[in-house]
Amino acid sequence: MAEHESLEFGKADFVLLDSVSLEEFMANLKLRFEKGRIYTYIGEVVVSVNPYRAMNIYGRDTIEQYKGRELYERPPHLFAIADAAYKAMKRRNKDTCIVISGESGAGKTEASKYIMQYIAAITNPGQRAEVERVKNMLLKSNCVLEAFGNAKTNRNDNSSRFGKYMDINFDFKGDPIGGHINNYLLEKSRVIFQQEGERSFHSFYQMVKGGSESLLRSLHVSKDPTAYSYIKVGGQVKVGYHRSNFLVFLYLSPCDLSQGNLTFGVDGDTTLIENSKVVAVIGVLLATKEENVGKALLYRTVATGRDVIDKQHTTQEASYGRDALAKAMYERMFCWIVGRINDVIEVKNYDAKVHGKNTVIGVLDIYGFEIFQNNSFEQFCINYCNEKLQQLFIQLVLRQEQEEYQREGIPWKHIDYFNNQIIVDLVELQHKGIFSVLDEACMTVGKVTDEVFLQGLNSKLAKHAHYTSRKLSPTDKSLEFDRDFRIRHYAGDVVYSVVGFIDKNKDTLFQDFKRLLYNSSNPVLKMMWPEGKLSITEVTKRPLTAATLFKNSMIALVENLACKEPYYVRCIKPNDVKSPLLFEYERCRHQVEYLGLLENVRVRRAGFANRQEYPRFLQRYKMISEFTWPNHDLPSDKEAVKRLVQGCGFEHDVAYGKTKVFVRTPRTLFCLEEQRDEMV
Ligand code: ADP
Ligand code: MG
Repeated sequence: MAEHESLEFGKADFVLLDSVSLEEFMANLKLRFEKGRIYTYIGEVVVSVNPYRAMNIYGRDTIEQYKGRELYERPPHLFAIADAAYKAMKRRNKDTCIVISGESGAGKTEASKYIMQYIAAITNPGQRAEVERVKNMLLKSNCVLEAFGNAKTNRNDNSSRFGKYMDINFDFKGDPIGGHINNYLLEKSRVIFQQEGERSFHSFYQMVKGGSESLLRSLHVSKDPTAYSYIKVGGQVKVGYHRSNFLVFLYLSPCDLSQGNLTFGVDGDTTLIENSKVVAVIGVLLATKEENVGKALLYRTVATGRDVIDKQHTTQEASYGRDALAKAMYERMFCWIVGRINDVIEVKNYDAKVHGKNTVIGVLDIYGFEIFQNNSFEQFCINYCNEKLQQLFIQLVLRQEQEEYQREGIPWKHIDYFNNQIIVDLVELQHKGIFSVLDEACMTVGKVTDEVFLQGLNSKLAKHAHYTSRKLSPTDKSLEFDRDFRIRHYAGDVVYSVVGFIDKNKDTLFQDFKRLLYNSSNPVLKMMWPEGKLSITEVTKRPLTAATLFKNSMIALVENLACKEPYYVRCIKPNDVKSPLLFEYERCRHQVEYLGLLENVRVRRAGFANRQEYPRFLQRYKMISEFTWPNHDLPSDKEAVKRLVQGCGFEHDVAYGKTKVFVRTPRTLFCLEEQRDEMV
């Protein structure tokens, strides 16, 4: 078991609780948090509680303590999980992945960084230059991604507003030789709007605050962030901490900034741009003619039968177009940056015939379950993502157990848990699921409204146990408005407002803008907008909807994770005020419940609390039996372990697999540990 620390710190593994109840679980979690023990195991899962203070547990000396050790030999730590994933990869040639989950501010991104740091620290003992280069790139890529993809929110000063999955590739020696990053659903609406107290992406402020005079002048950027309406909406231009004023300059961020200041007016029947100076600046930044920018902002080319005409926008349409362009430019820029990072970190010149199999450790740091005051399309996607990951957790954690028992020839008995497949289906099922209903509504000819979508949901899902709406449950107080519907997620009930679903799903960017950017004389911009090549009469296919794109990316992600050996980090946020001292019992209990941690303990205990390879077991306990100390003369380590266990009287509580001894109850391990203590 996890190195049996003194009991004053609580149980290092929840499997060791005397009885499995929510109260006991919580008491242990609280005690450990208060004693500064932020990590606790459930078997091979790490439960982590955000300490909200600097902990002196990530240094070189700590790394040395964990290197090459087994989980139970040291106090619970992320490093132990990282080492386990690394060992599985290296010894057994297995692709592994580390899935980090938890709500916003729970500590996922920090955990992923410590894991990367650990892996970087224990690899490449030969100091090969190329491997050092790759390691540096992998570690530093974070900094760039955080500048462009993170923002201050009310929950987290450095909140990741995108999902990230990073593969690290290793050669046959176990040294990192490259990697690849997949990014998921950047919250691009943040470019144009932020809630009270929040900010836009860090990059904007870093540029405005950190750029040199001459640079800012050449980009036509003001040094005053409040000069820009897009980034001052949330009213927070400062953050209480300092980050390196790392800057990457592209034309798009300054352009985004300027664009936010464009306003439209009318003169008679004509829509006008009120501040034409801004148009000139945008023209310069986008390397295109000022008049083309003006035209794309005010008109839309439409094909009516065989004719192609320019249709003037209303001021409302023009503002919509402006915002859509700003969001799209930032999103493409972000994806482009990820692409450039991938170009430099991807594995090069690897010949499997010479170097042996190239294995992978994947690290997933993706948005956690979100329940806000007002939940919209973004929260819906994010919560669907969490349903998918929970489903994977159920399958893998159970499957893994099952497979291990089978492999070792030990019978297995089933345990009950809530299977959230029904909710996954509710969202993603073809024809019947919410995404399908949404896509269908978006295809309707004529004026499509969010209400049409809601009607579709109500008629298709009226009987679904996890779906309801104001119309279906008129007396339900949590459904305040006609536009509300509610999903019973595995993590709790969430009320969504349908307002904006259609628009966000269609994610329309007028073709005129795509053409504008494709015709830029800046080759990078041109490359980012290949669809702009098509003229209006050539555009036939509807682009895939946001929901479909997201669903496809989630299905691919889950498929990818499912074929790897998984390790889990479950992060818990102890309070909502970023305090190192406060363990808000109810908040934590809720997270423990919806993360399914108690079921996790039960599943783990229904099987065997602990399993160890025979030689390891002997090494740890051989001093407690005269047959095994200091060495045994039995035909195998397995026989020796049997002898040792018989001698202690634990025969009934132990099963012998092919390569491992399985110990059912934690009490037996306690006794073994105690006897060992008496001897050493
Ligand atoms: P998430 O990615 O889950 O939204 P983060 O990893 O960004 O959350 O963590 C939020 C904040 O909590 C960090 O900026 C940091 O201040 C604090 N934090 C998280 N994990 C740790 C840790 N292990 N040690 C110290 N502080 C932490
Ligand atoms: Mg994060």
